[in-house]
Amino acid sequence: MSQETELGIVISDGDWMNIWKMQQSTTSSHVWREHCWKNVIQFFINPKITSKYMSRVQPCWRKCRDVNVNHLHVFWLCPKIAPFWDDVHTVIVKILGYSIPKTRWIPVENIVGGLQEGITKKWSWPNIPTREEWLQIVGIIFEMESLTYKLRTQEERCQDKWEKWAVFTSAAKNGQH
Ligand SMILES: [Zn+2]
Repeated sequence: MSQETELGIVISDGDWMNIWKMQQSTTSSHVWREHCWKNVIQFFINPKITSKYMSRVQPCWRKCRDVNVNHLHVFWLCPKIAPFWDDVHTVIVKILGYSIPKTRWIPVENIVGGLQEGITKKWSWPNIPTREEWLQIVGIIFEMESLTYKLRTQEERCQDKWEKWAVFTSAAKNGQH
């Protein structure tokens, strides 16, 4: 199941849509959601699109030797991004405090935005986001959400949602990771 946008980007495809479904519940900030969405479908171009416009075969910018790759490849399938997802899995298990299977999409809604931003920040670059970088982005999302809930006087809801994250970050500050 896939659908093409007017830009010719395949945006819907199994895992890909799962991510966006979660994106809808990642944060209460409408602006942030819109920002994330636009990042991917509008402002970011992939080798498949470039090759279409240039009528020339475009290699994956991570130098995995694949060509004319789409967003699905850039996010998930590129072998060069595998260490990133391995690292994400390791951190998720630490945050949750129990083991989960290593799937290609991450069933922890709070941090999906951070992962997406981490990847899109390094768009067109061969290197992958470091753990420090994507954790920092999740931290920013957490702060934005805290503020939003505070303004709505729903701080308890925020605390429930981010409890494990708060435990994880305070442990990290104490040098336990
Ligand atoms: Zn690749």
